[in-house]
Amino acid sequence: MQFTEEHKQLRKTVREFIDKEINPYVEEWERNPPFPARELFPKLGKLGLLGVTKPEEYGGMGLDYSYGMVVSEELGAIHCGGVPMAIGVQTDMCTPALARFGSDELREEFLRPAIAGEMIGCIGVSEVGGGSDVAALKTGARKDGDDYVINGSKMWITNATQADFICLLANTSEGSAHKNKSLIIVPMTSKGITISDKLDKLGMRSSDTAQVFFEDVRVPQRNRIGQEGMGFMLQMMQFQEERMFAAINSLRGMEGVIAATVDYCRERTTFGQPLIDNQVIHFRMGELQTEVEALRSMVYRACEEYIGGANVTLLASMAKLKAGRLTREVADSCLQYWGGMGFMWDNRASQLYRDGRLLSIGGGADEIMLGIICKLMNILPSRK
Ligand SMILES: Cc1cc2nc3c(=O)[nH]c(=O)nc-3n(C[C@H](O)[C@H](O)[C@H](O)COP(=O)(O)OP(=O)(O)OC[C@H]3O[C@@H](n4cnc5c(N)ncnc54)[C@H](O)[C@@H]3O)c2cc1C
Repeated sequence: MQFTEEHKQLRKTVREFIDKEINPYVEEWERNPPFPARELFPKLGKLGLLGVTKPEEYGGMGLDYSYGMVVSEELGAIHCGGVPMAIGVQTDMCTPALARFGSDELREEFLRPAIAGEMIGCIGVSEVGGGSDVAALKTGARKDGDDYVINGSKMWITNATQADFICLLANTSEGSAHKNKSLIIVPMTSKGITISDKLDKLGMRSSDTAQVFFEDVRVPQRNRIGQEGMGFMLQMMQFQEERMFAAINSLRGMEGVIAATVDYCRERTTFGQPLIDNQVIHFRMGELQTEVEALRSMVYRACEEYIGGANVTLLASMAKLKAGRLTREVADSCLQYWGGMGFMWDNRASQLYRDGRLLSIGGGADEIMLGIICKLMNILPSRK
């Protein structure tokens, strides 16, 4: 991966924005969630950061995925997981299919304002009955004249209480579970939508996550992305970017916690010597940093292949799996060396411990990643 001056400039822009507009407020947003997406997103939009890889016709920068990757990586320098996750939902989870397969009219109405940060989006796949088995979802969109009439509900929807639209995966016909679904953009102000109170989460406290209910919600069929019945496939494609975002975005957070732990262990002494001078500790820090670099290499390779037009399902799934597991390992190991301080709410390691736990669950749990990897290795037993 060769980075140009433009990549470096983009990194700097993100870094300066985080230092000025995000990190000073993280503590407050974590204690009094949700963070104000309605104020923050237009500022990100003004800098172009919500549309780095999106088409220029709709206000995006039209750059290749390596530039998007650089932004996602730098967003990892935010001192919590909730805010970068919310931004990632906007850039890499609810808009990739819209940008690529949405009609001009739909893109004008929803993509342009999403890139500008004037509209907030969310992605509706998971349901109370299950998130892992996407094919089994129950929410339905029945055709009625030129409209769809939607009934059902979606669970754990990030950004839901602040969002203007949801990119919804719903069953639009009977038949094979992989060919009966469509992605539909539904305005959150539509009659018949209700949103639960913000769910009380273990981590990612600054972001809002809620349940969304649909009762006879009417939207024009022209709000569908792509052809009818292609929703499952489009969502699987969209998941590639979601999973790459998740892996890339984890790197800086882990490094930040390793660096903070090293600093603390230099200062803190036990039995007459700095903690860091214990071989078990400095070797552990060296090992964890090595693992982070190995993950970075995997992600950069996935990104390079993606730009080249390859299907990177295997590498993206491996990177997401590794990121989830490594985040848990880094958070747990580092927290240990802070001793009692590591058990305090405001500690960097404890923040990663809480927030990072989601990485092995959301956007496809570790076991789902392993299922995909094994399928592509041709070692997954076929279902009886
Ligand atoms: C904070 C947060 C934010 C989220 N944001 C969104 C969002 O914006 N939009 C959205 O659509 N969803 C969102 N989700 C949902 C998330 O994607 C799901 O929770 C996830 O996909 C797992 O689904 P589930 O919780 O229903 O677990 P289940 O499908 O019930 O699975 C439970 C557990 O069983 C294991 N498991 C599942 N299948 C297998 C298998 N075949 N073999 C072995 N083990 C298995 C896994 O460990 C899994 O964690 C969010 C969740 C959280 C907690």
